[in-house]
Amino acid sequence: MDEFEIIQRFFAGQADAPGIIVGIGDDGAVLAPADDRHLVTVVDTLVEGRHFPTGLDAGDIGWRAVAVNLSDIAAMGAAPRWMTLALTLTTPDTHWLEGFARGLFDAAGEAGVVLVGGDTTGGAQVVVTVQITGDIGADLALRRSGARPGDAIFISGYPGDAAGGLAQLKADLSAHGALVDRFRRPQPRLQLGRELAGLATACIDVSDGLAGDLHKLLVASGVGASVDLCAVPISPALATFAQEDAMSFALHGGDDYELCFSASAECIDTVLETAARCATPVAHIGRVTAARGLSFLRDGEPMAVDTTGYAHFGREA
Ligand code: ADP
Ligand code: MG
Repeated sequence: MDEFEIIQRFFAGQADAPGIIVGIGDDGAVLAPADDRHLVTVVDTLVEGRHFPTGLDAGDIGWRAVAVNLSDIAAMGAAPRWMTLALTLTTPDTHWLEGFARGLFDAAGEAGVVLVGGDTTGGAQVVVTVQITGDIGADLALRRSGARPGDAIFISGYPGDAAGGLAQLKADLSAHGALVDRFRRPQPRLQLGRELAGLATACIDVSDGLAGDLHKLLVASGVGASVDLCAVPISPALATFAQEDAMSFALHGGDDYELCFSASAECIDTVLETAARCATPVAHIGRVTAARGLSFLRDGEPMAVDTTGYAHFGREA
């Protein structure tokens, strides 16, 4: 099976969707944004052995490749529209491709995003790059830089669950349960993100650990924050699995794909009502301060927490 057959058999043939003037089959896709909308574009690469364990189910790889990008789109408050896929395969395995395409299109279909192009190559390991373009009302995109002293800080979902699931998969690739599901099938917070546009003052998607990603938001905004560890939500499944390390998973585990955001303190009730309408758990975990730096309190007592997060090529000391 050469790459042209792979494209035809597994990736071409999606129905036309609004805004697609030219889709798969030409040298480039031609897309038409609607009037008064801004485009938001994101891209993320998954490398076998680095972003997912070698041998992970192909459907989960396809799902994750789309979901991690949708999470970035959600953090901008945008609606996803079109995606491209650059796929590097070691061998053209039909069974693998069927599973991969199913996971990919399941995640895309739920979010209403259509595949409009890509690239298919052979290589030494599986590498999947998905790029998604979304749109949003002009000037409404959420940024990392808008948090102001006095704002309240929130986190969606249960941070640390996916890292707990990954730890279980690394010990046994056939492991299953609530935590493993959170790693294999992250649920991007698209509806919440869209409703936060115009309500939140700043937003980031948490992919490298809550502490490190909140720190990035604070640096971008030129502020600091104090987080109440007692308010950081720990799922029962994570508490059972990680025991006394559960808070460490919640603060430093990666792969959450949750939204961490700030909003004016007067809007706390509105934020919690919005979250309930989106059927998305959201917890109020802290407060933005004028003094830089991120501090953590437990029962009012300061706690030392590392805020460096994950970095691919290490960091200068
Ligand atoms: P080119 O020779 O211009 O690079 P290709 O032969 O690689 O074009 O691709 C032919 C068409 O198929 C293009 O429209 C391209 O966007 C699309 N395509 C290639 N690989 C994929 C893929 N994995 N998923 C979706 N579309 C793809
Ligand atoms: Mg070409």
